[in-house]
Amino acid sequence: MTGASASGADAGASAGPDVGVEVDPIPLAQPVIGEAEEQAVLEVLRSKQLSLGSRGPAFEQAFAKRIGATHASAVSSGTAGLHLALRAVGVSDGDEVVTSPFSFVASANTIVYERARPVFADIDPVTLNLDPQAAAAAITDRTSAILPVHIFGYPADLPALERHGLALVEDACEALGAAHSDGISVGGRGHPAVFGFYANKQLTTGEGGMVTMGSAETKQHIDSERNQGRAPDMGWLDHDRLGFNYRLSDVAAAIGLAQLGRLDEMLAARARVAAWYREALADCEREHGLQLPCPDTGGNVRGWFVFVVQVPRDRDRDETIRALGARGVSAKAYLPAIHLMSFYRERFGHRPGEFPVTEDIASRSLALPFFPEMSQGQVGRVAQALTYVLRN
Ligand SMILES: *Cc1c(COP(=O)(O)O)cnc(C)c1O
Repeated sequence: MTGASASGADAGASAGPDVGVEVDPIPLAQPVIGEAEEQAVLEVLRSKQLSLGSRGPAFEQAFAKRIGATHASAVSSGTAGLHLALRAVGVSDGDEVVTSPFSFVASANTIVYERARPVFADIDPVTLNLDPQAAAAAITDRTSAILPVHIFGYPADLPALERHGLALVEDACEALGAAHSDGISVGGRGHPAVFGFYANKQLTTGEGGMVTMGSAETKQHIDSERNQGRAPDMGWLDHDRLGFNYRLSDVAAAIGLAQLGRLDEMLAARARVAAWYREALADCEREHGLQLPCPDTGGNVRGWFVFVVQVPRDRDRDETIRALGARGVSAKAYLPAIHLMSFYRERFGHRPGEFPVTEDIASRSLALPFFPEMSQGQVGRVAQALTYVLRN
């Protein structure tokens, strides 16, 4: 069996009630950082040009090339990128933006930043992405944009959403390395698409983000607003519009460039860990009704970000997480439904029952440890612990 007792440290982790606590806990996520990143940071530090230097544009160009996008703008976080992208497509006061309630809260929050209303539509129970029919039904004459999320790195059905002729802003923060069925990389369709570089993402700069897009005008808009609203040809401290400080430092951009250099390797490692999980959890899926991430279909390619499973309906997800924790396995409820968060309930009057698929999935989902350097033995330990917990 895959990885069941692949390393000495795992000996004895074979499902007894009192095992697990004495072995090293397996973290949820962990970045790959090595000499290339250290060197890149040192170079920037020694250059004494810590921001607005050459690393930012170099990172943007390399990233755009990698995605197959015409332009890219580096920003200080995925959230900042979503905010600027929504502003760039013209979302403003009183507008409606159709989006998924099954996402990290930032995708909806950034709509609220612009005093627009996030209009949620339910998700597809298999891909967990915005259901195109539900999205279509949510469009009104106040809708100014659609914000699909490529959740857990699985490509959202962009061709179906593009038919409405509305502006699209893609939340690709979890989807680096993903590709649509027509072969286009996620982020390469021309709509502003936002990537995030927090430490658990496929590529990290500590904190950071990138917006890819096909329009030079959009890039100009975003580049200006991330830098206090300054136009590229305007003098020091002259500003022709409201702006923010959403810049990415050269230190961070240098880390990003080093990470790009090992991206193929890191993505392949994530896909390998996912394949180990699938194999190690196959029995658990069959015998205990555990739901695994959907396999790639129709030519869509997932960019592996997390390994999220759904416990069967008769199991308590939070109890499962506690039992895994007692066996030295970190796991996290991931993700909670946005419309049921207290801020969204209070501000927009949401209540349970509005989005049944999202609520069902959100109540049963948990993220298992998942990172490129995870060993087959660690995957085996997690699978054994989860199987033990669900069996008992
Ligand atoms: C990570 C993430 C973001 C943005 O994250 P930052 O922490 O702001 O970089 C946005 N949306 C989703 C779905 C994410 O997973």
